[in-house]
Amino acid sequence: MVPSMSAPAVTRFAPSPSGYLHLGHAYAALFAQGASAGGRFLLRIEDIDTTRCRPEFDAALQEDLAWLGVMWTGPVLRQSERSEAYAAAVRTLSRLGVLYPCFCTRAEIRAEIARSPSAPHGPEGALYPGTCRTLTGTERAARVAAGEQHALRLDVAAALEAVRPHGPLVWRDRAAGPVACTPEMLGDVVLARKGLGVSYHLAVTVDDAFQGVTLVTRGVDLFHATHVHRLLQAALGLPVPEYHHHRLITGPDGNRLATRDGAAALRTLRADGWTSVDIRARIGWPEAG
Ligand code: GLU
Repeated sequence: MVPSMSAPAVTRFAPSPSGYLHLGHAYAALFAQGASAGGRFLLRIEDIDTTRCRPEFDAALQEDLAWLGVMWTGPVLRQSERSEAYAAAVRTLSRLGVLYPCFCTRAEIRAEIARSPSAPHGPEGALYPGTCRTLTGTERAARVAAGEQHALRLDVAAALEAVRPHGPLVWRDRAAGPVACTPEMLGDVVLARKGLGVSYHLAVTVDDAFQGVTLVTRGVDLFHATHVHRLLQAALGLPVPEYHHHRLITGPDGNRLATRDGAAALRTLRADGWTSVDIRARIGWPEAG
Protein backbone atom coordinates (compact mmCIF):
# COMPACT_ATOMS: atom_id res chain seq x y z
CA MET A 1 0.00 0.00 0.00
CA VAL A 2 1.28 3.49 -0.81
CA PRO A 3 0.51 5.67 2.22
CA SER A 4 0.43 8.91 0.20
CA MET A 5 -2.68 7.70 -1.65
CA SER A 6 -4.70 7.58 1.58
CA ALA A 7 -6.96 10.25 3.06
CA PRO A 8 -5.31 13.11 4.99
CA ALA A 9 -4.39 12.08 8.52
CA VAL A 10 -2.58 13.39 11.57
CA THR A 11 0.55 11.27 12.00
CA ARG A 12 3.66 11.57 14.11
CA PHE A 13 7.25 10.43 14.37
CA ALA A 14 8.20 9.79 18.00
CA PRO A 15 11.90 9.06 18.47
CA SER A 16 13.73 8.76 21.79
CA PRO A 17 16.84 10.97 21.93
CA SER A 18 18.99 8.21 23.42
CA GLY A 19 21.32 8.01 20.42
CA TYR A 20 21.70 9.18 16.84
CA LEU A 21 19.00 8.40 14.29
CA HIS A 22 19.78 5.42 12.07
CA LEU A 23 18.37 4.02 8.83
CA GLY A 24 15.42 2.45 10.67
CA HIS A 25 14.44 5.85 12.04
CA ALA A 26 14.77 7.36 8.56
CA TYR A 27 12.27 4.82 7.24
CA ALA A 28 9.86 5.37 10.16
CA ALA A 29 10.01 9.16 9.76
CA LEU A 30 9.49 9.07 5.98
CA PHE A 31 6.69 6.54 6.41
CA ALA A 32 4.89 8.71 8.98
CA GLN A 33 5.32 11.83 6.89
CA GLY A 34 4.06 10.04 3.77
CA ALA A 35 1.10 8.55 5.63
CA SER A 36 -0.12 12.03 6.63
CA ALA A 37 -1.02 12.37 2.94
CA GLY A 38 -1.36 16.13 3.00
CA GLY A 39 -2.79 16.14 6.53
CA ARG A 40 -0.50 17.00 9.45
CA PHE A 41 2.78 15.35 10.40
CA LEU A 42 4.01 15.96 13.96
CA LEU A 43 7.27 15.39 15.83
CA ARG A 44 7.23 14.13 19.41
CA ILE A 45 10.40 13.62 21.43
CA GLU A 46 10.02 10.64 23.77
CA ASP A 47 12.47 11.70 26.46
CA ILE A 48 10.88 10.42 29.68
CA ASP A 49 13.92 8.31 30.53
CA THR A 50 16.34 11.02 31.60
CA THR A 51 19.06 8.46 32.35
CA ARG A 52 19.25 7.51 28.65
CA CYS A 53 18.09 10.65 26.78
CA ARG A 54 20.42 13.59 26.11
CA PRO A 55 19.74 17.11 24.73
CA GLU A 56 22.50 16.74 22.13
CA PHE A 57 20.70 13.74 20.60
CA ASP A 58 17.47 15.79 20.57
CA ALA A 59 19.20 18.59 18.61
CA ALA A 60 20.98 16.09 16.35
CA LEU A 61 17.83 14.25 15.39
CA GLN A 62 16.11 17.45 14.29
CA GLU A 63 19.15 18.31 12.18
CA ASP A 64 19.21 14.79 10.67
CA LEU A 65 15.49 14.93 9.84
CA ALA A 66 15.88 18.31 8.11
CA TRP A 67 18.81 16.91 6.10
CA LEU A 68 16.68 13.95 5.11
CA GLY A 69 13.91 16.28 3.95
CA VAL A 70 11.44 15.38 6.70
CA MET A 71 9.52 18.48 7.82
CA TRP A 72 7.01 18.42 10.66
CA THR A 73 4.30 20.98 11.38
CA GLY A 74 3.73 22.85 14.63
CA PRO A 75 5.76 22.83 17.81
CA VAL A 76 7.73 19.78 18.94
CA LEU A 77 6.10 17.99 21.89
CA ARG A 78 8.51 16.73 24.57
CA GLN A 79 7.35 14.03 26.94
CA SER A 80 9.65 15.39 29.66
CA GLU A 81 7.27 18.38 29.83
CA ARG A 82 4.11 16.29 30.13
CA SER A 83 4.34 14.82 33.63
CA GLU A 84 1.13 16.56 34.77
CA ALA A 85 -0.88 14.89 32.01
CA TYR A 86 0.59 11.47 32.87
CA ALA A 87 -0.13 11.98 36.58
CA ALA A 88 -3.75 12.83 35.72
CA ALA A 89 -4.05 9.60 33.71
CA VAL A 90 -2.56 7.62 36.62
CA ARG A 91 -5.17 9.18 38.95
CA THR A 92 -7.99 8.20 36.57
CA LEU A 93 -6.74 4.61 36.37
CA SER A 94 -6.26 4.46 40.15
CA ARG A 95 -9.85 5.58 40.68
CA LEU A 96 -10.95 2.78 38.34
CA GLY A 97 -9.05 0.36 40.59
CA VAL A 98 -6.92 -1.06 37.78
CA LEU A 99 -3.42 -0.19 39.07
CA TYR A 100 -1.35 -1.76 41.82
CA PRO A 101 2.05 -0.93 43.27
CA CYS A 102 4.82 -3.38 42.39
CA PHE A 103 7.85 -3.49 44.66
CA CYS A 104 9.70 -6.24 42.78
CA THR A 105 13.20 -5.70 41.44
CA ARG A 106 14.14 -7.13 38.05
CA ALA A 107 16.23 -9.79 39.80
CA GLU A 108 13.29 -10.82 42.00
CA ILE A 109 11.04 -11.12 38.95
CA ARG A 110 13.66 -13.26 37.15
CA ALA A 111 14.04 -15.50 40.20
CA GLU A 112 10.28 -15.90 40.57
CA ILE A 113 9.93 -16.87 36.90
CA ALA A 114 12.81 -19.35 37.20
CA ARG A 115 11.10 -20.96 40.22
CA SER A 116 7.87 -21.63 38.32
CA PRO A 117 8.50 -23.63 35.15
CA SER A 118 4.90 -23.05 34.04
CA ALA A 119 5.28 -19.25 34.25
CA PRO A 120 3.14 -17.72 31.51
CA HIS A 121 4.96 -16.42 28.45
CA GLY A 122 3.80 -13.88 25.90
CA PRO A 123 5.12 -12.79 22.51
CA GLU A 124 7.88 -10.81 24.24
CA GLY A 125 8.98 -13.43 26.76
CA ALA A 126 7.97 -14.32 30.29
CA LEU A 127 5.15 -12.28 31.78
CA TYR A 128 5.26 -10.58 35.14
CA PRO A 129 4.32 -13.42 37.53
CA GLY A 130 1.87 -11.26 39.46
CA THR A 131 3.74 -11.37 42.79
CA CYS A 132 2.55 -7.94 43.99
CA ARG A 133 -0.97 -8.31 42.61
CA THR A 134 -1.80 -10.60 45.53
CA LEU A 135 -0.63 -8.23 48.28
CA THR A 136 -3.43 -7.03 50.54
CA GLY A 137 -4.45 -3.40 50.64
CA THR A 138 -2.90 -3.10 54.12
CA GLU A 139 0.42 -4.55 52.97
CA ARG A 140 0.52 -2.22 49.99
CA ALA A 141 -0.29 0.84 52.05
CA ALA A 142 2.32 -0.05 54.68
CA ARG A 143 5.10 -0.56 52.12
CA VAL A 144 4.22 2.64 50.22
CA ALA A 145 4.08 4.57 53.53
CA ALA A 146 7.49 3.16 54.46
CA GLY A 147 8.86 4.81 51.32
CA GLU A 148 9.59 1.57 49.47
CA GLN A 149 10.30 2.28 45.79
CA HIS A 150 7.63 0.89 43.52
CA ALA A 151 6.29 0.89 39.99
CA LEU A 152 2.59 0.93 39.15
CA ARG A 153 1.33 -2.01 37.10
CA LEU A 154 -1.86 -2.36 35.13
CA ASP A 155 -4.08 -5.11 36.47
CA VAL A 156 -5.07 -6.23 32.97
CA ALA A 157 -7.88 -8.54 34.10
CA ALA A 158 -9.41 -5.78 36.25
CA ALA A 159 -9.05 -3.24 33.44
CA LEU A 160 -10.72 -5.57 30.93
CA GLU A 161 -13.55 -6.06 33.40
CA ALA A 162 -13.87 -2.30 33.94
CA VAL A 163 -14.18 -1.55 30.22
CA ARG A 164 -16.37 -4.55 29.41
CA PRO A 165 -19.56 -2.38 29.22
CA HIS A 166 -17.95 -0.58 26.24
CA GLY A 167 -18.31 -3.78 24.20
CA PRO A 168 -15.58 -5.77 22.45
CA LEU A 169 -12.25 -3.97 22.07
CA VAL A 170 -10.88 -3.86 18.54
CA TRP A 171 -8.48 -1.69 16.59
CA ARG A 172 -7.72 -1.41 12.91
CA ASP A 173 -4.32 -1.74 11.35
CA ARG A 174 -3.87 -0.66 7.72
CA ALA A 175 -1.67 -3.69 7.07
CA ALA A 176 -3.25 -6.33 9.33
CA GLY A 177 -6.91 -5.24 9.16
CA PRO A 178 -9.23 -5.42 12.19
CA VAL A 179 -7.50 -6.78 15.29
CA ALA A 180 -9.28 -8.11 18.38
CA CYS A 181 -7.62 -6.65 21.45
CA THR A 182 -5.95 -9.25 23.69
CA PRO A 183 -3.73 -7.25 26.08
CA GLU A 184 -3.56 -10.14 28.56
CA MET A 185 -0.86 -11.67 26.33
CA LEU A 186 1.57 -9.01 27.64
CA GLY A 187 0.58 -9.49 31.29
CA ASP A 188 0.40 -6.73 33.90
CA VAL A 189 2.64 -4.18 32.18
CA VAL A 190 4.24 -1.28 34.05
CA LEU A 191 2.44 2.03 33.53
CA ALA A 192 4.51 4.12 35.93
CA ARG A 193 8.16 3.19 36.23
CA LYS A 194 10.01 3.47 39.52
CA GLY A 195 11.22 7.03 39.86
CA LEU A 196 9.78 8.16 36.49
CA GLY A 197 6.04 8.22 37.23
CA VAL A 198 5.15 7.01 33.73
CA SER A 199 6.11 4.34 31.20
CA TYR A 200 6.21 4.14 27.42
CA HIS A 201 2.72 2.59 27.19
CA LEU A 202 0.97 5.29 29.18
CA ALA A 203 2.89 8.27 27.75
CA VAL A 204 2.33 7.21 24.14
CA THR A 205 -1.39 6.58 24.61
CA VAL A 206 -1.98 9.87 26.42
CA ASP A 207 0.10 11.88 23.95
CA ASP A 208 -1.34 10.40 20.76
CA ALA A 209 -4.78 11.49 22.01
CA PHE A 210 -3.49 14.90 23.19
CA GLN A 211 -1.91 15.60 19.80
CA GLY A 212 -5.01 14.50 17.90
CA VAL A 213 -3.11 11.74 16.07
CA THR A 214 -5.55 9.87 13.84
CA LEU A 215 -3.08 7.40 12.32
CA VAL A 216 -0.27 5.91 14.42
CA THR A 217 2.53 4.56 12.24
CA ARG A 218 5.43 2.66 13.80
CA GLY A 219 7.50 -0.46 13.38
CA VAL A 220 5.92 -3.88 13.55
CA ASP A 221 8.06 -4.57 16.64
CA LEU A 222 5.50 -2.47 18.54
CA PHE A 223 2.46 -4.30 17.17
CA HIS A 224 1.76 -6.13 20.45
CA ALA A 225 2.06 -2.93 22.47
CA THR A 226 -1.01 -1.64 20.64
CA HIS A 227 -3.17 -4.19 22.49
CA VAL A 228 -2.24 -2.44 25.75
CA HIS A 229 -2.73 1.02 24.24
CA ARG A 230 -6.21 0.09 23.02
CA LEU A 231 -7.17 -1.07 26.52
CA LEU A 232 -5.83 2.17 28.00
CA GLN A 233 -7.81 4.22 25.48
CA ALA A 234 -10.99 2.49 26.63
CA ALA A 235 -10.15 2.92 30.32
CA LEU A 236 -9.23 6.60 29.91
CA GLY A 237 -12.04 7.47 27.50
CA LEU A 238 -9.65 8.46 24.70
CA PRO A 239 -10.30 8.36 20.94
CA VAL A 240 -9.00 5.34 19.03
CA PRO A 241 -6.67 6.15 16.13
CA GLU A 242 -6.05 3.90 13.18
CA TYR A 243 -2.70 2.09 13.12
CA HIS A 244 -0.18 1.09 10.49
CA HIS A 245 2.68 -1.07 11.74
CA HIS A 246 5.36 -1.16 9.09
CA ARG A 247 8.34 -3.31 8.23
CA LEU A 248 11.68 -2.86 9.96
CA ILE A 249 14.97 -2.00 8.30
CA THR A 250 17.58 -4.68 8.82
CA GLY A 251 21.36 -4.58 8.81
CA PRO A 252 23.73 -6.81 6.82
CA ASP A 253 23.26 -9.58 9.43
CA GLY A 254 19.49 -9.59 8.79
CA ASN A 255 18.73 -8.25 12.26
CA ARG A 256 16.71 -5.12 12.97
CA LEU A 257 18.92 -2.05 13.33
CA ALA A 258 19.35 -0.73 16.85
CA THR A 259 20.67 2.58 18.12
CA ARG A 260 23.88 0.87 19.20
CA ASP A 261 24.63 0.03 15.53
CA GLY A 262 26.61 3.22 15.06
CA ALA A 263 27.52 2.29 11.48
CA ALA A 264 23.95 2.83 10.35
CA ALA A 265 23.66 6.27 12.00
CA LEU A 266 22.52 8.87 9.49
CA ARG A 267 25.27 11.29 10.47
CA THR A 268 27.96 8.64 10.08
CA LEU A 269 26.67 7.86 6.61
CA ARG A 270 26.46 11.57 5.81
CA ALA A 271 30.08 12.04 6.90
CA ASP A 272 30.96 9.12 4.60
CA GLY A 273 29.46 11.03 1.67
CA TRP A 274 25.97 9.57 1.50
CA THR A 275 23.23 11.93 0.27
CA SER A 276 19.62 11.86 1.42
CA VAL A 277 18.82 10.28 -1.97
CA ASP A 278 21.27 7.45 -1.17
CA ILE A 279 19.56 6.93 2.19
CA ARG A 280 16.16 6.66 0.54
CA ALA A 281 17.49 4.17 -2.00
CA ARG A 282 19.07 2.03 0.75
CA ILE A 283 15.81 1.77 2.71
CA GLY A 284 13.61 1.39 -0.36
CA TRP A 285 11.67 4.65 -0.06
CA PRO A 286 9.25 5.46 -1.59
CA GLU A 287 7.88 1.97 -1.72
CA ALA A 288 6.42 0.57 -4.91
CA GLY A 289 2.67 0.20 -4.38
N1 GLU B 1 9.67 6.15 21.00
C1 GLU B 1 9.45 4.89 20.36
C2 GLU B 1 10.72 4.43 19.69
O1 GLU B 1 11.63 5.23 19.50
C3 GLU B 1 8.35 4.92 19.33
C4 GLU B 1 7.03 4.96 19.96
C5 GLU B 1 5.86 4.83 19.03
O2 GLU B 1 5.97 5.14 17.84
O3 GLU B 1 4.81 4.49 19.52
O4 GLU B 1 10.81 3.27 19.35
